[in-house]
Amino acid sequence: MNHDDLRHWSKRAADWAHDYHANLRDRPVRAPLVPGAIARQLPVSPPEVAEPMETIFADFDRIVPPGLTHWQHPRFFAYFPANASPASMLAEQLANAIAAQGMLWQTSPAVTEIEQVMVDWLRQSLGLPQDFTGTIHDSATTATLSAILTMREQALAWAGLTQGLHGQPRLRIYASDQTHSSVDKAVRIAGIGQENLVKIATDASLSMVPEALHAAIAADLAAGFVPAGVVLCAGGTSVGAFDRIGDCIAVAKAHDLPVHVDAAWAGSAMICPEFRSLWAGVEGADSIVFNPHKWLGAQFDCAVQFLRDPGPQVKTLGLRPTYLETAGREEVVNFNEWTVPLGRRFRALKLWFTLRAYGLEGLRVRIRNHVTWAQDLAVALSKLKGVEIVTQPALSLFTFALEDDAKTEALLTRINDEGRIYLTQTRHQGRFVIRVQVGQFDCTAQDVAMVETVVREGL
Ligand SMILES: *Cc1c(COP(=O)(O)O)cnc(C)c1O
Repeated sequence: MNHDDLRHWSKRAADWAHDYHANLRDRPVRAPLVPGAIARQLPVSPPEVAEPMETIFADFDRIVPPGLTHWQHPRFFAYFPANASPASMLAEQLANAIAAQGMLWQTSPAVTEIEQVMVDWLRQSLGLPQDFTGTIHDSATTATLSAILTMREQALAWAGLTQGLHGQPRLRIYASDQTHSSVDKAVRIAGIGQENLVKIATDASLSMVPEALHAAIAADLAAGFVPAGVVLCAGGTSVGAFDRIGDCIAVAKAHDLPVHVDAAWAGSAMICPEFRSLWAGVEGADSIVFNPHKWLGAQFDCAVQFLRDPGPQVKTLGLRPTYLETAGREEVVNFNEWTVPLGRRFRALKLWFTLRAYGLEGLRVRIRNHVTWAQDLAVALSKLKGVEIVTQPALSLFTFALEDDAKTEALLTRINDEGRIYLTQTRHQGRFVIRVQVGQFDCTAQDVAMVETVVREGL
């Protein structure tokens, strides 16, 4: 395989991709779940001699698609979307062909500079103030880890980086019980410890109670702990909960604590001004993460973290050994100093292509449609006998259940085995409920209406 062969096979791959997407509606959304069925079709040992690409490609076509859950299927209503707009796919092809590693400005100025401009385009798109800059991570999990490591080091006056955590005071991080498990993972990895992640009570609308946040911080101070920061939830993964962002930030600021807002899913919706009241006050945050790779269409992986002042995070994560110095260029940004990994892909290219190919108006139309269709679907499902809407639509996410957990679970299994749509579950206030999120890039009103048909037939 050389570059001339690659030209031929790239075209074959483009044709394959076109057919794959054109026929997605005919495939079951979720892969059949037979453990080992795919692995069994591969030889146990690697080949000693080169094989023809014709054979490799044929094996790919035969073995891989039957083992896929089709995330770009227009009737994918599970989890959250991982949208890949066609423009994003094209940009990824080009980024693949370039295969640059953008750890430093000088290792590809275009990678760094387009990333800076794209983060600023998105800042404007979401209505955030001018003093936010930011960077692109692989995932929201890594962005949240970066924010929590920074909280840890700010609280320890940067002693943790050099001395380790042994003998340091006990740090505390605050979040509601609706925040994503990536917050739990971050406090574990950061050496703060799960027991020092204080889960603050939520009210009837599943929002963190600001008075409870204040009380928890005060109690910890009285007990000799060191509060280090607050993580707020703007669109929880389970049922789409929003903390009262401005009120909670006011409490954090009264105690001089940094705030990180997790808007991994819902952040994309903030390109529509009418949804911004859901995170009112967010401009007071120190750090905000959202995933264009979920709802916006710049495919996985693409998690944007906005930072009011990158200084503390760069001081926490940045290291500059001699071999990473940028000769005589102190004015440039070396993004590896903002993130956990050293190496970085050219992720900004798919943002550039996506934002230009659809325009903010085109992307807003999609998101507004998804929200409207989800609301319509919740109404339609509520009319089915035995179906209860358990949580009302938060943007485009709602949950429903039947009279008991066993019946709900059995219905979900029947639906997903049948394959026309794909839904997943969560547990809400002890109850097993089925999540429905509308958000796939190419889905239509008819695709969404199919959910009512499948549920009705499955009852
Ligand atoms: C999906 C999600 C995450 C994790 O995102 P990754 O990019 O997969 O790490 C974190 N928080 C929320 C609210 C999410 O919806």
